[in-house]
Amino acid sequence: MNQVLVLNSGSSSIKYQLLDMADRRRLAVGAVERIGESAGSVSDHAAGMDVVLGELEGHLDRSALAAVGHRVVHGGDRFRGPTRIDDEVCATIKELIPLAPLHNPANLTLIEAARKAFPDTPQVAVFDTAFHQTLPVPAYTYAVPAEWRDDLGVRRYGFHGTSHQYVSRRAAELLGRRPEEVNVIVLHLGNGASACAVRQGRSVDTSMGMTPLEGLVMGTRSGDLDPAVSAYIARRTSQDAEETDRVLNKASGMLALGGSNDMRDITRGADAGDEGATLALDVYCYRIRKYIGAYLAVLGRIDALVFTAGVGENSPVVRAGAVAGLEHLGIAISPKRNAAESKEERYISPYWAQTAVLVVPTDEEIEIADQALTLVGGG
Ligand code: ADP
Repeated sequence: MNQVLVLNSGSSSIKYQLLDMADRRRLAVGAVERIGESAGSVSDHAAGMDVVLGELEGHLDRSALAAVGHRVVHGGDRFRGPTRIDDEVCATIKELIPLAPLHNPANLTLIEAARKAFPDTPQVAVFDTAFHQTLPVPAYTYAVPAEWRDDLGVRRYGFHGTSHQYVSRRAAELLGRRPEEVNVIVLHLGNGASACAVRQGRSVDTSMGMTPLEGLVMGTRSGDLDPAVSAYIARRTSQDAEETDRVLNKASGMLALGGSNDMRDITRGADAGDEGATLALDVYCYRIRKYIGAYLAVLGRIDALVFTAGVGENSPVVRAGAVAGLEHLGIAISPKRNAAESKEERYISPYWAQTAVLVVPTDEEIEIADQALTLVGGG
C-alpha cells in the first residue's frame, strides 16, 4: 500500500498527482481544465473525475492505493489538521461554503466523486487553512462587532497553509535544525501570494485573511486595501458589492498596474522602461518588504527568510527588490547566488549574513500525500 492519489480542484479545474510514496516518485501528473466553462468542455467536477480515472489507467494500482488526499481550501476554525473524510466531515465542509463560495463546492463535488470511484480507499482532507489554526487570538482577530465575529465567522484564517508548513520544515532541515528550534518567514509568491511568520514550527501570523484577498499584491488580487474603498466605488459608480469583489479578486494586482498577471511579462516590461510594469514591480516588492518588517517584529528574531512558489523560486528581480535595504536588519542576498537559475533548494544569502535567505521549491502534493498517508497509518 504505497500509492497516494492527490486531488486539487479549483473552481474550474482538477489537478491530480499519483505518487508512489515508497520512493516518493510521481507516477502520473495531470490536469483537467476549463470545467463547466463552455459547451463541449467537461461539464462538472464529477465528469472531470471520470477523465482523471481514464488518464490514470495503466498507472494506478487499486490494491496499492493507500489513500486519496484532497486539498480543501477552507476549513474555517473547524479543522486543525488532516482529517479522514466521512459524511459528517462533508457536511461541515458544506457548512463552510459561505466562507469560500467558489472553492468549497468544487472541492466537495470532487470528494463525493472520488468516494464513489474508490469506495474502499480512505479519503483524507488537507485544508489550506489548517496550518494557521495556531494563530494567537490577537493575530486572527479583526476589530469588528461581536455578531460578525461570533455569528458570521469574520476573522483571519489564512491560506497556502500546506505550502507554508512544507517550506518552513524544509528550511529548518536545510539549516540542520529541527522545526521547533527555528523562526522563519516564508514568502509564498505564486499567482496567489502570502507571507507567513512561523515560530518554532507553528504559524503565528499570515497575510491572507478571512479570504485569500488580503495581504500581498498578487497576479490579479489587490491585497491590502482600505475596506472603505468598496463603499466608495459603489457610491461613485454603478458597481455593487459583488462586482467590486470580482474586480478586487480578478482584475486588480499586477494585471491592473502592469497589464499582465505574469511576473515574466512585468519584469520584461520594466526592463524595457514600461511605466506600468515598473510601478507594478515597485508596489509588489514594497508590499513584501513591509510584511518582512512586520513579521520580524512579530517573531523577534528569525533564522531564515524563505522564498517559494512560481515568482519566489524563479524571479531574482523580485527577491532582490523584496529585501532591498534590509541589511541593517541582518537580511541580505548575494547577487551572484540570487542570479543563478536552479530548481534546487538553496541559499542566496552571502556567507557573512546573520540571517539565511533561502529558496525552497514548494511541493504541496507531496505534503498532502505525506499527511494523508501518516493519518491512515501508512507513513
Ligand atoms: P499557483 O499559485 O497557480 O500555484 P505558481 O506558484 O506556479 O502559481 O506561480 C505562477 C506564477 O509564477 C506565474 O504567474 C508567473 O508570474 C510566475 N513565474 C513563473 N516562472 C517565472 C519566472 N521564470 N520568472 C518570474 N516569474 C515566474
